[in-house]
Amino acid sequence: MPKQNIAGSKVAIVGAGFVGTTFAYSLLIRGLASQIVIIDVNKERAEGEAMDLNHGLPFAYPTKIWAGDYHDCQDAEIVVIAVDKGQKIEQSRLELAEGNFEIMKQIIPNITKHNKECILLVVTNPLDVMTYAALKLSGFPKNRVIGSGTILDTARLRYLLGEHLQVDPRNVHAYIIGEHGDSEVPVWSLANVAGIRLKDYCPICKAPYNLEDFNNLFLKVRDAGYEIAKRKGRTNYAVALGLTKIVESIVRDENAIVTVSCFLENYHGVGDMCLSVPVVLNRSGVKEIINLPLDEKEIANFQKSANIIKRVIASLGL
Ligand code: NAD
Repeated sequence: MPKQNIAGSKVAIVGAGFVGTTFAYSLLIRGLASQIVIIDVNKERAEGEAMDLNHGLPFAYPTKIWAGDYHDCQDAEIVVIAVDKGQKIEQSRLELAEGNFEIMKQIIPNITKHNKECILLVVTNPLDVMTYAALKLSGFPKNRVIGSGTILDTARLRYLLGEHLQVDPRNVHAYIIGEHGDSEVPVWSLANVAGIRLKDYCPICKAPYNLEDFNNLFLKVRDAGYEIAKRKGRTNYAVALGLTKIVESIVRDENAIVTVSCFLENYHGVGDMCLSVPVVLNRSGVKEIINLPLDEKEIANFQKSANIIKRVIASLGL
């Protein structure tokens, strides 16, 4: 039995940009929240977005949507952080981190002043660094601070593998772990369809099993953000759907398995930082971290990814 009706769920979104508002739209058409409050330093933009979304209500679900302020975070079950300083993709990871860390230092105390019980869901980049910053700045328990992390990269891998194998991507079980970014790690050793490893599934579906093909698929996943940004400036749809899946797992108390960034104590030797791994997600947030039996190369790459993020975290004095 669900502990609470999802009709009672309130979701606050800080950052009314492309990601924040596409997510609000996705949330609305899934009917997953009874209240959606949008907060942005640009109040007019938030107001315009709320008006536009409200005009769709006759075609969606009863939902109260408004442009609010931090006091409206009170009673929110989830507060999504989708702010950005408006930086350029060519800027270094550290430059991006410094700019957005400044914003996090302003907004996290504003949120926690009004709500100490919510789940913080971070989407702002650099994702793993900002998730760690949200954890430290909020003082929240580790199960209640999550970054969307590699839920997006994992979805991209499942989509591309689905195309390659001619199977519904929802039936492809393959994970990207580590950084949401350049050093992310594909877990090929455990990838499967119908419980069958790729090496054995490929002959069944008559798709070539060629390690180079799979590596090329991974490179497409890793570079997808840049390739999309080159063509349309930014990414918003798939990440918004990923955020919606995370919210659904929480408000429906699903115990769903998703790859999100969360605090790790000792995951294959990686600790005291946030990185993506598969977790069991429910109304309490991260209920369980799933310790994948990675192969040696995957462990080494995961540790390498962690070291890159750790250096950025240290440079921020976190
Ligand atoms: P955007 O520039 O369209 O929107 C950012 C919004 O943040 C703007 O509306 C701006 O006014 C607002 N903002 C800035 N400072 C603020 C403050 N102090 N308080 C409140 N609001 C403030 O950016 P976007 O395209 O929506 O992207 C948002 C973030 O999500 C970026 O960091 C982007 O890199 C990241 N992103 C992450 C993923 C992922 O998978 N994790 C995917 C896509 C984008």
